[in-house]
Amino acid sequence: IEFVGAPIFNEVKDLRGVVLVFHDITDLKKVEQMRKDFVANVSHELKTPITSIKGFAETILDEEMEDPSIQKKFIQIIYNESARLQALVHDLLELSKLEKEELQLKIKKIPITELVEGITELAESQAVKKSITFSTNIEEGITLFGDSERLKQVIANLLYNAINYTPNEGKVILTVKQQDGRVEISVADNGIGIPKEQCSRIFERFYRVDPARSRNTGGTGLGLAIVKHIVEAHDGSIQVESELNKGSTFTVLLPTSIT
Ligand code: ADP
Repeated sequence: IEFVGAPIFNEVKDLRGVVLVFHDITDLKKVEQMRKDFVANVSHELKTPITSIKGFAETILDEEMEDPSIQKKFIQIIYNESARLQALVHDLLELSKLEKEELQLKIKKIPITELVEGITELAESQAVKKSITFSTNIEEGITLFGDSERLKQVIANLLYNAINYTPNEGKVILTVKQQDGRVEISVADNGIGIPKEQCSRIFERFYRVDPARSRNTGGTGLGLAIVKHIVEAHDGSIQVESELNKGSTFTVLLPTSIT
């Protein structure tokens, strides 16, 4: 709490009292702290791949390093790290657009078949690489109102995470159904899961349960923050139910009509 005080005098300059104004600055402080944390996180996330790119490039440039197979290995690392930087900058720009509400949603009526088209094929091709069984259970005839590209991004992101955080030979299921006038889209996996106490935090920017694992698999730590923004811009909600080493289910609820 911050306060400002001012004395009050009468006509003959006798002190009659004091006016104190109290401001609750807890929220302001919190916002300021979050902003600082964000800048620190971004800097850290950028610094790590840059250090690595610079280091490996220097080693290649070193005249004594002539083995072409080692050179190739280092160039591969430089490539991977650049891809990570690119993904990070892309997600940061996305998030900043969403937060500034610059992004106008292109709302239209979307048949569910149109929404999942293409995404399921992509998920299947990723799942196969890990021998993960990917299946869908999509109720017929569902239509919803929303921005098709953005909602596709939501589903693709959840599926990407499910496959990413599920060990080889696991299972991932995409379910779409209509319930109480809303469309429920859920992505369930039987992967590594999330500790209960961390479930609410994973939608925060850069929050990761296991930072090393997420970075190694190319994650930017911004995916779920972006997903949450898009869902809420559609007047929808997202929640997660998870158990460590058993799996996770992410459920998105969207209205079927525009309000
Ligand atoms: P990342 O790029 O790290 O995957 P996200 O914002 O998409 O960033 O997710 C945040 C964190 O939530 C991840 O680092 C991971 O710890 C956890 N997470 C997300 N989806 C899953 C899932 N299906 N199973 C287990 N953990 C998950």
